[in-house]
Amino acid sequence: IIQLYVPLNWFGTYYRAIQKNFVDMENMFDLLRENQEIIDAPGAGPLIVKRGQVEFSNVTFSYTPEKVILKNISFIVPAGKTVALVGASGAGKSTIVRLLFRFYDVEQGAVLIDGQNIKTITQSSLRRAIGVVPQDTVLFNNTIKYNIQYGRIEAADADIISAARNADIHERILSFPNGYDTQVGERGLRLSGGEKQRVAIARTILKEPAIVLLDEATSALDTQTERNIQAALNRVCANRTTIIIAHRLSTVIHADEILVLKDGEIIERGKHEELISYNGTYHSMWQAQLQNDQEAIKDSNDDAPES
Ligand code: ATP
Repeated sequence: IIQLYVPLNWFGTYYRAIQKNFVDMENMFDLLRENQEIIDAPGAGPLIVKRGQVEFSNVTFSYTPEKVILKNISFIVPAGKTVALVGASGAGKSTIVRLLFRFYDVEQGAVLIDGQNIKTITQSSLRRAIGVVPQDTVLFNNTIKYNIQYGRIEAADADIISAARNADIHERILSFPNGYDTQVGERGLRLSGGEKQRVAIARTILKEPAIVLLDEATSALDTQTERNIQAALNRVCANRTTIIIAHRLSTVIHADEILVLKDGEIIERGKHEELISYNGTYHSMWQAQLQNDQEAIKDSNDDAPES
């Protein structure tokens, strides 16, 4: 029995590791295939995470020779701080995050974590150090418990529950037909967008990474859900180096630095108030957002039954 058990268990762990990498990519940025050209440098050692500082130093990158996507990008996210990336669609926000994950190698410059060039360390150690809360989380056809545990496969039940509580989804799970053993995903209970996002938050809390990447949902959730999720997100990002791809500016007001990207360049940078005072691109984006929000409020008032 023991002989059989060991290899099966080993296979299980290995298989889950493959699944995990696959889903991390699929989840995050619609990047469905791993780039085979990225291989660990000979003799590469693991990333040694000290405090989790992220640095892009003069990074230039293109997917194809015809078009340069990022042009000489430099910024530092000090350990524990939050940097938000904003800018029009196609500006290069997701590309920055893909480079941090080393799905591609930079052409010029370097991406460093705690001073170590990510080209020189193992990819597995790099990805262990980074947690991702994607826009849209893909769930496994498995139990809700498994879907959270996947953040750290060896986690104890008590830790899974604690992560679910911190992600503000524990009570909801208890209301499912079989609690934590309820089957979810395509062939099980379908979760709402907000619930799936909280599963992703719980996974990340369980993973305890030094660095968190947050791809903010584009579609607005209702105000109460939004508030609950924001509180859970604040918990997962607290004291962690955080990079947010922001689609709605209201969530980046408190970022330590906001980088405004346009056509692969940083055109404005600073805190929210500073950027507003520049009366430039960020200011216009902010005005547009306010107008949008007001229209949304007006529409929802129009829909309200007359009293
Ligand atoms: P969005 O807000 O729409 O997600 P973004 O700011 O994240 O946009 P990126 O996804 O980083 O933008 O894309 C930057 C540019 O790179 C775009 O012009 C895009 O078309 C191009 N691009 C993205 N992925 C690839 C790829 N795999 N191959 C070639 N070009 C790509």
